[in-house]
Amino acid sequence: MAFEGLSERLQKVFSSLKGKGKLSEDDVRAVMREVRMALLEADVNFDVVKGFVKQVRERALGSEVMDSLTPSQQVIKIVDDELTKLMGEEAVPLNKAPHIPTIIMMVGLQGAGKTTTAGKLAKYLMANDKARPMFIAGDVYRPAAIEQLKVVGEQVGAPVYDEGTDKDPVDIVRNGLKQAEENKNDYVIIDTAGRLEIDDKLMDELARIKELAHPNEILFVADAMTGQVAAKVAHGFDEQLDITGVVLTKLDGDTRGGAALSIRSVTGKPIKFIGQGEKLDQLDVFHPDRMADRILG
Ligand code: GDP
Repeated sequence: MAFEGLSERLQKVFSSLKGKGKLSEDDVRAVMREVRMALLEADVNFDVVKGFVKQVRERALGSEVMDSLTPSQQVIKIVDDELTKLMGEEAVPLNKAPHIPTIIMMVGLQGAGKTTTAGKLAKYLMANDKARPMFIAGDVYRPAAIEQLKVVGEQVGAPVYDEGTDKDPVDIVRNGLKQAEENKNDYVIIDTAGRLEIDDKLMDELARIKELAHPNEILFVADAMTGQVAAKVAHGFDEQLDITGVVLTKLDGDTRGGAALSIRSVTGKPIKFIGQGEKLDQLDVFHPDRMADRILG
């Protein structure tokens, strides 16, 4: 389950506080050392941990806690608040175009879950916004990727525009958008190629697709299992493409939480959705406050 390790660690730290009356500065410092260790073990980015601990420590040493009759609860509340802030405070909805179609471009490393998430997103939009989405198969390097998108399209009941693997993806996207306009699709979801790591050729191709399509959303799909590396890669994609949001996948298998807790702070971009399983209905809107509550148990 997501955050299991971090959750357990933090609950243990805070249980040592419970029942204590007034806290001394030493108590607060000792707790913060434990929180710091727990976050680093959860694979949260070092600078993010540093900033977080500083913020919590300052508040915890303030009158809000020191003069309180229930100081341990106050400390937990502050950690809860600050975890929520770290993940972006509030759920951020998808951008919508003023005129149809809204264009969503999925980007990310190979295997992160782009194609699966494209399908999940279409299903979500069809259920919640009565959408008539169309996919464009922009990953021309792997025939299997196009096949996979077609399977996903069939499963959710949305058309897939593809021109096989011999064309420039920018041309495919241009033609796909024309088709979407003719068919009056209200959403177009562009699946793009990924590599095992960031490279110039891929970034150049994605930049050209962006320039042509003017997407309303560029969603970076991040594999939560890769921890703070996901945040680093997100930062790389953001520098090149100015992403609009993040979808964090495989949260069902991530017991640590480093990606979820680092990405917002490292990129400044919101996590909009989380993937919690391979099935196409396992996509949820990301609520930072609920996630913080889940971590603190
Ligand atoms: P792409 O290369 O980025 O298009 O990645 P895929 O969509 O092909 O996904 C790679 C693998 O991750 C597939 O086996 C998916 O079923 C799996 N996957 C995607 N999202 C999730 C998720 O939220 N949870 C789990 N457990 N698996 C996922």
